[in-house]
Amino acid sequence: MSTLKNIVIVGGGTAGWMTAISLLHKWAGSGTKVSLIESPEIGTVGVGEGSTPALKTFFTDLGITESEWMPACNATYKVGISFSNWSTVTGHTDYFHPFFSEYDVGPGESFFTRCGHKRRGVSLTAHPDNHFIAPQLFKQNKGPAAIEPTQIDYGYHFDSSRLALFLKEKSLALGLNYIEAKVSNVTLAANGDIEGIQIDGIKDIKADFFVDCSGFYSLLIEKALNSKFISYENSLFNDSAVTIPTEVYADRAPSATISEALSSGWCWQIPLTNRIGYGYVYSSKYLSAEGAEKELRKHIGKSSEGKPAKHLKMRIGRREEHLKNNCVAIGLSQGFIEPLEATALMLVQYSIYKFIRYVETSDTDVDNYNTTINQMFEGVKDYIVTHYKLNDRVDSQYWIDCREKPAISNTLESIITAWDSEQDFDAALSKLSPSLMYKRASWYAIFAGMGRFPEGRKAATTFQLIPSHEKTLSFCQGITAEKFIDHKESILMLTQ
Ligand SMILES: Cc1cc2nc3c(=O)[nH]c(=O)nc-3n(C[C@H](O)[C@H](O)[C@H](O)COP(=O)(O)OP(=O)(O)OC[C@H]3O[C@@H](n4cnc5c(N)ncnc54)[C@H](O)[C@@H]3O)c2cc1C
Repeated sequence: MSTLKNIVIVGGGTAGWMTAISLLHKWAGSGTKVSLIESPEIGTVGVGEGSTPALKTFFTDLGITESEWMPACNATYKVGISFSNWSTVTGHTDYFHPFFSEYDVGPGESFFTRCGHKRRGVSLTAHPDNHFIAPQLFKQNKGPAAIEPTQIDYGYHFDSSRLALFLKEKSLALGLNYIEAKVSNVTLAANGDIEGIQIDGIKDIKADFFVDCSGFYSLLIEKALNSKFISYENSLFNDSAVTIPTEVYADRAPSATISEALSSGWCWQIPLTNRIGYGYVYSSKYLSAEGAEKELRKHIGKSSEGKPAKHLKMRIGRREEHLKNNCVAIGLSQGFIEPLEATALMLVQYSIYKFIRYVETSDTDVDNYNTTINQMFEGVKDYIVTHYKLNDRVDSQYWIDCREKPAISNTLESIITAWDSEQDFDAALSKLSPSLMYKRASWYAIFAGMGRFPEGRKAATTFQLIPSHEKTLSFCQGITAEKFIDHKESILMLTQ
């Protein structure tokens, strides 16, 4: 139960609303008053349309069904991410980062063994798309819904503005104290705690705890409490994005995010039920905003004509302290790692859960809170940096620099060294596991998917026999065709 009497959340973006509903749900009947202040005049970032499988747990915990929230947010299912043109290695210009299903266990093991052989110089095919169900679901326009109950991880695509509205209505029904106003000043007590915040220059709002969900403004955690910002700009070079929506496909509804490398960054393609969202994430050091919009429009083609573009700046990095005095930062105010693997709301969700535990156990170990959250950020960062570090493109200075110049952590250095050498890769991952946010299959998928195999290594002469990749591929294709439902149909079924 909460020991707090009065909590004020500043900010009504996705982070603010996810926090509000979680606290209200968890502490219903405990006497904790939860207020949320937002300024519609300032607005929200309003993009962020892909999730990881963690979001499924978020709704399940709240007791909200897919048929309730998905149609309200124009949501579709996501079984993974399809990467195109991040690598030029023959046979590896496209690969899929899958979410996992119970059917992947056998084919997955043979993929890991296959990768081990290829790393030791054996000439064979080792590509993740031949060993997992998810890429076949995507190719066959199927979703994660199956004819009979199946254990499968999946995430979602959704309209983030609608999601914020949906969560707002739910929070109001749970007794939220909602205040539409602009925070103009923050006052501190002698011990450094936030004493109160002024809204619209007049009214003083007091609370015993404050949640900073003010986005990149970081009103409380940075401007009032001076928590240091650790920039990731030396590791991740993208700092800007431009987005354009287009009409949906008439004939199909893809069940994956498509991420295609362009000249100075990458473009996402996210299918919702009412539109396809495109966004080009790029580095302003290599490309102007006008250049990015032009390249994105050319990439999309005719369907972008007459559609408005939205330009955004991104601040990439994290706080040193996410929890400081009587304030916790959740969402963009605490940090942001670029959207390549759509991890931001997962970090929001984990931060909320950790904060709830912090309050409920009266655990005064603030360092433990901050260390855990920082490890999560660093773990996600390592995986995102890997995409850039492994690229072998030579067509622009951007891609050359992304390969040659990013600062990489000791953890990532050890992972790359282990893969490139003949070390036992599984043993290396397991040794590093406390620092990792991504599991074994994701690491194999990215290295093998991008075709990172040594050339000219003397082939191992003895190795374990494994099923042919044609056999595992045909198994995955067969299971997909036989057991899973058409994606478009499964979305329609939500409204019936
Ligand atoms: C280009 C891009 C793509 C992204 N893609 C993904 C994705 O695919 N998946 C994913 O999980 N995440 C993604 N994200 C991140 C995601 O958008 C954010 O994590 C999410 O929207 C949460 O944002 P937020 O609520 O922290 O901030 P915001 O949406 O910026 O909300 C801030 C809130 O604070 C309020 N506020 C600010 N100042 C004041 C003030 N003075 N007084 C009162 N209120 C104030 C604003 O009114 C607003 O309500 C993406 C982000 C970007 C930039």
